[in-house]
Amino acid sequence: MDVTDTPGVALTFDDGPDPVWTPRVLDALDRAGARATFFVIPPLALEHEGLVRAALEAGHGVELHCVRHVRHTELSPREVEAEAREGLRALRSFGAEPRLWRPPWGVVAPWTWGIAAEYGLEIAGWTADTHDWRGDDAPAMLRSVSPLIRQGAVVLMHDGIGPGALRDGCAETVALVGELVAHIEKLECEPSPYRARRGA
Ligand SMILES: [Zn+2]
Repeated sequence: MDVTDTPGVALTFDDGPDPVWTPRVLDALDRAGARATFFVIPPLALEHEGLVRAALEAGHGVELHCVRHVRHTELSPREVEAEAREGLRALRSFGAEPRLWRPPWGVVAPWTWGIAAEYGLEIAGWTADTHDWRGDDAPAMLRSVSPLIRQGAVVLMHDGIGPGALRDGCAETVALVGELVAHIEKLECEPSPYRARRGA
């Protein structure tokens, strides 16, 4: 995907909230003085409501990932519509105002776009994949992703163990946060949440 017009370098985390790892990611962001966007799984958010509220209170974005972690191409239009409707209902119950939707694996179906527009959601991709789900260590991830870090980049990380993950924890993602933020600042860019094109 192309570099977006998101100002700064967006830090994004999918597949949470996770009771073990999301608090550690939040701490790492706090220590680094950076804000990020969490593309959450609403059923997990309902289970760990305090984590979503903590993220919002710290100024992070809370946006929609998926109710079911299934490619939209494997769902009917009606099922994708339910993803948006049920997901938004859950996230709004915490006071979040989602404007972004990152479908599982970044896969959209032809019907995803119209449903997103109907619900006021912008489809959010990424430009720099850390592949953190593979279990690489933080220095290796920084090395592989750093050539992609520039103004407008969107970095994909995970604060939960999603389907297909080859690791059993997110410790290396937690370790990556500070190093990545330092790298971004060295380039005189600013770590930021992912901002919707139409503004807040
Ligand atoms: Zn995911």
